[in-house]
Amino acid sequence: MAHLVLIEDDNGDVVDQEVYCSDFCAKQSEHYAGWNGCNEIGSNEPCAECGVELVGVNEMEKTTYTIWFSDSPGHQDGYLENISEEKMIEMSDRYGFDAEEVINHGETYMWPEGIEPYDNPRPTSDDVVGGCYRVNK
Ligand SMILES: [Zn+2]
Repeated sequence: MAHLVLIEDDNGDVVDQEVYCSDFCAKQSEHYAGWNGCNEIGSNEPCAECGVELVGVNEMEKTTYTIWFSDSPGHQDGYLENISEEKMIEMSDRYGFDAEEVINHGETYMWPEGIEPYDNPRPTSDDVVGGCYRVNK
């Protein structure tokens, strides 16, 4: 979500906009005209003040997650594909995997008791019952 500062011409028509990460950054603009947050932007853009990358809705839609389940070790038997990030976080509660790890590192695994018994887990590890990975289209 972005904070927008709209730039108007002399007739009050919006001719341009500046994109900011926060109200704090937006206030640095000479065109600042009050709080205008919670705006969606189409594609990724950096904050005009601090440069932090703001994720656009088009980019968000390109990221989905796949959750898989294994009945027998080393075999990927069940797949749930095209899961949104929001849904994936919801499901991480139910299935007991680490949503943060998937978002930050791209992949995580599930164990029967939800306890990670390995330093370097692989999908073929005997006890792995499933996993979740990020898909960028
Ligand atoms: Zn900023």
